[in-house]
Amino acid sequence: MSLDAEVLIDWFADHARDLPWRRPECTPWGVLVSEIMLQQTPVARVEPVWREWLARWPTPSAMAAATQGEVLRAWGKLGYPRRALRLHAAAQAIAEQHGDEVPHDVDALLALPGIGAYTARAVAAFAYGKRCPVVDTNVRRVVARAVHGAADAGPPSTTRDLADVEALLPDQRAAVYSAALMELGALVCTARTPRCADCPVLAACAWQRGGRPAYDGPVKVAQKFAGTDRQVRGLLLDVLRGTAEPVAKSRLDVVWADAGQRDRCLHSLLVDGLVEQTASGLFALPGEHR
Ligand code: SF4
Repeated sequence: MSLDAEVLIDWFADHARDLPWRRPECTPWGVLVSEIMLQQTPVARVEPVWREWLARWPTPSAMAAATQGEVLRAWGKLGYPRRALRLHAAAQAIAEQHGDEVPHDVDALLALPGIGAYTARAVAAFAYGKRCPVVDTNVRRVVARAVHGAADAGPPSTTRDLADVEALLPDQRAAVYSAALMELGALVCTARTPRCADCPVLAACAWQRGGRPAYDGPVKVAQKFAGTDRQVRGLLLDVLRGTAEPVAKSRLDVVWADAGQRDRCLHSLLVDGLVEQTASGLFALPGEHR
C-alpha cells in the first residue's frame, strides 16, 4: 500500500500553513533554526522567536559571534534550552568549516554538532529539495495508520522508520511530499481525533479499511511537567535570563522550596553547560562572566 503522491502534494498546495521558514526566500540557515526550534515546541510559540533570531542572527557566523549566554537569553521560554547551545555549536562549525553555508548533504549535516537523524534529513529536504526520508512523530503516526493499518505508531526505530518512509517517497518532488506527510499528521491525522472525513488519503487508508482497530502496542506514558526537574531547571534559568549580572545562590534558592530537588537541578544545569559558576562563586549564564 502506498499513498498517492499527487493527491497528497495537491492537498498540501491547498492546505499547508503559510509559515515563514517555508517561503522561497527563507535561507537554509533559517530552515535549520526552525527545525531545531520545532522539535519540541509548537509552531505558534516558535514563530515569533524564530523571526527575532533570524533578524538578529541572519547567518551562522552572526550567531557564532554571540556568547552562549546571549543565545540562551534569546531562547526565552521555548523549553529544552540545550537546543539553543546545540544550534550555537552548529553555527560555529558551519561558519568555521563550511564557509558560512549550511551543508547540503545528509552526512555533512550529521557531522555537525548536535544535528541528529531527523534534523539532517529535514534540512536536506526542506532547504535543498533533496529526496530523503524525513520522519517525525506526525509522519510516524500517518504511516502507522494509512500504510500499516495500526491506530498509532509503536516505539520509534530509526532504521525501520526511515526505511518505511523511504519506500513511500516519489522520485519527483519528494521533499514536497515529505512536507505534505508532516502537515497531514499535524493538521488532519492528529493523535487523538483524526479528521478522517477531511483526509485526502481516506480511500487508501489501511486503518480505515481495516475498520479502525484499537491501538494494541506498548502503553505510552504521557509526559507531565508540573513538579518535574524540567520545571525547576526552567525556573532557575529564568532568574539568570532576567539579570545581566551573576547572582548569589540565595537568589536561586527562592524559586523552589524543595532544596534537594533544587540543588540537583542546579547541578545538572552546571553539568549541561547551561549555567556557569564564576570564580567568586556566583551563578550566571555561560560565556558572559569569565
Ligand atoms: S483517513 Fe484518518 S487515519 Fe487515515 S490517514 Fe487520513 S486522517 Fe489518518
